[in-house]
Amino acid sequence: MMVDKNNLHSLTSSIQAVASPFRSYLNELYEKYQPLKEGAVADYIPELAIANPDWFGISVVTVDGQIFEVGDCSKLFTIQSISKAFIYGMAIEDHGRDYVWTKVSVEPTGEAFNSIVLDEKTNRPYNPMVNAGAIATADLIKGNGATERLKRTLDMFRRYTGREHDINVPVFLSEKATGNRNRAIAYLMLNFGMISDRIDETLDLYFQQCSIMVNGHDLAVMAATLANGGVNPITGERAIDERYVQDVISVMLTCGMYDASGEWAYRVGMPAKSGVGGGITAVVPGKLGIGVFSPPLDVKGNSIRGIKVCEDISRDFGLHLFNVAKPKHNLKDWIEGGDSVDAW
Ligand code: GLU
Repeated sequence: MMVDKNNLHSLTSSIQAVASPFRSYLNELYEKYQPLKEGAVADYIPELAIANPDWFGISVVTVDGQIFEVGDCSKLFTIQSISKAFIYGMAIEDHGRDYVWTKVSVEPTGEAFNSIVLDEKTNRPYNPMVNAGAIATADLIKGNGATERLKRTLDMFRRYTGREHDINVPVFLSEKATGNRNRAIAYLMLNFGMISDRIDETLDLYFQQCSIMVNGHDLAVMAATLANGGVNPITGERAIDERYVQDVISVMLTCGMYDASGEWAYRVGMPAKSGVGGGITAVVPGKLGIGVFSPPLDVKGNSIRGIKVCEDISRDFGLHLFNVAKPKHNLKDWIEGGDSVDAW
């Protein structure tokens, strides 16, 4: 049989694929949780309500660039609140840690993500993962006017994922049309001098960052980039200064999963961020990134299948940050044989 170079490559990667125990493990997780019927897709705007509850993808990318995935990992959806973690890193790069600290605190709230509440003593929003903090953070993104600020934002996401991103314009317009609560939060912060008076421009940027289209694979690469000290393990490009990775992922650990962040830190123990589009990005520092996409959410706004998948991976491979017990499976032995980027 004649096999040309391309065929040989796909033959080799499918042999690797079959050989990888971690891939079989992910396939089993997929089969285990695909039948779940709990939760509801977000419906605060019509564009999110049309999501199919059966969509489900799991992607894992290691810091040495191996890719393992199963299900709907190339299906695009809006990043929503997941953007907040990455914009926070960008604001720190733009202004330095000390200045950003004067504008946004890092305390978990236990309150809903869109609550209209500021720290009574300092007038700062509680953390960059609730809407108030995220809007204050978006205000800090530098650039000469709306276009340049958006361009810099999209370029930052490109460095994390290795590809160009589009905005979902109907989602952006809907967020903007229905975003009076976010507008109220922004004006409250303006009143206290916590943000600049370019309110409409900053809110547009915030609605646009929430409307960026990503897929499950992107979320795993973004998390793997943080896990890898800020360098995208597939492209080799730096996405964020390594000094600031710990700022981003520590706030993800304490505040990234809405008002279930404490329970997440307890059960899963990975810095993570979720969004109402159904995505979760989870970081295992020095090891790997996980991206899960499944639109049905629990009452707190986190993807139900996403939580279960991360809980299982954390438990089975001992990936909880504070785990000191011998895990069921040794990650190192299980992750040989993932696809390379050419195969993806
Ligand atoms: N765009 C949403 C809002 O500002 C954020 C949704 C989310 O939490 O993922 O209300």
